[in-house]
Amino acid sequence: MADTPTTDDIRGFVMSIAGPIDGDLDSICAELGELETLKHQIEARQARLALQVDRLLRERAAVQGVPASRQGKGVAELVARSRRISPARGRTVVALAKQLRSLPQTFQSFCAGDFSEHQALVVAHEAAILEGHDVSAFDQRFAATPGLKELGTRKIAHRAQTIALALDEEAVVRRRDKAVENRHITAIPTDRGDGMGWLKALMPIEQLAAVKDSLGAAADTAIALGVDATRSQVMVDTLVARLTGAGSGAETVALEQPAHPVTINLLMTAEALLDNDHTQPALLAGHEPIPTALAKRLIQTAVLDVQKVELRRLFTAPETGELVGMESKTRLFPQALAQFIRLRDQLCRTPGCGARIGHIDHITDWASGGQTSAANAQGYCRQCNWAKQVIGNQHSDPPPLRTQPEPDVRPRHHLVVAYDTDLTLAA
Ligand SMILES: [Zn+2]
Repeated sequence: MADTPTTDDIRGFVMSIAGPIDGDLDSICAELGELETLKHQIEARQARLALQVDRLLRERAAVQGVPASRQGKGVAELVARSRRISPARGRTVVALAKQLRSLPQTFQSFCAGDFSEHQALVVAHEAAILEGHDVSAFDQRFAATPGLKELGTRKIAHRAQTIALALDEEAVVRRRDKAVENRHITAIPTDRGDGMGWLKALMPIEQLAAVKDSLGAAADTAIALGVDATRSQVMVDTLVARLTGAGSGAETVALEQPAHPVTINLLMTAEALLDNDHTQPALLAGHEPIPTALAKRLIQTAVLDVQKVELRRLFTAPETGELVGMESKTRLFPQALAQFIRLRDQLCRTPGCGARIGHIDHITDWASGGQTSAANAQGYCRQCNWAKQVIGNQHSDPPPLRTQPEPDVRPRHHLVVAYDTDLTLAA
């Protein structure tokens, strides 16, 4: 077993990484990756050290005759002071370390450097709503996630949410109902003195999806019409124009009202929609897993509101391969196949990236004989697609729906329930 490093060992190592940088591009990139793993491993060790601080302070307090209920006092503050972080952050990281004791396999994965302290907090937040056997089931399933190290924060959160939903959907729904009460808006200036500010609205995810997709659609239309602004700029201009009735520029006037209702895509198994099977949550396409009960509520509301509700079968069992095997003779992805890839991949497939899919990419280039097929396609965000042109092909995460079923769940038929919703943003 390795010896406990002394502070001199650590200082010696720090001296070595302060040294000169040379080597070729491959070795430099390899070092970047190793150091990233090391950062996570250091944070995991800090969590283990925090547990030891807790144990030693409690022992000392017990010797001094402090009652058991007060023996943990000061642990978070001492950890915070030692790490030079705020006491509030100290309480958070000590609570995380304690919670990780009930998630031993996840803790082990953290210690191996598979994810950061911030990502561990995201996972712990999902596990915290579970009780009893569900906690260890969560731990096993999360730690067994293929390619965990490559996922990035957003995909890690989706994975943890999916597992928690499969184990105890009611607990997730209760937390969500409580959270909805806290919806609010904050408007704060940046502290950079640049005359800008943030508008933040905390709202249910399905409303967020509708707002974001509506603004995105307006921006795409404007850009197609030749507006000289970026997608993000047009989205902000449209938001302001729709809320205040005042366009901030001539180009936004035409965009004040949504041209079309926004279509929300819900992805769920046939069993979940038609039976009472809630072991695989629904997906709010491009956003996050949501409770099946909530997905059904959204569909019922859409039906009652006489909104357009459309039901399409998307996935079949892998052995029939109906849509998975879809191909095209052309270089460009036909619309149906492109939509299928968006729904299948959900988020950009580059390791560590969780951005919105902006481009469907050939894994093996068309020029090198790659087919226009689902098997040879991956969803990329605009930035990663651009990066591919400069730094070459990147290894992709496995698509979330096809290769990561829950271990005890057989492959299902998946349905897309698409419904249009009219936004009520306009006065
Ligand atoms: Zn990306």
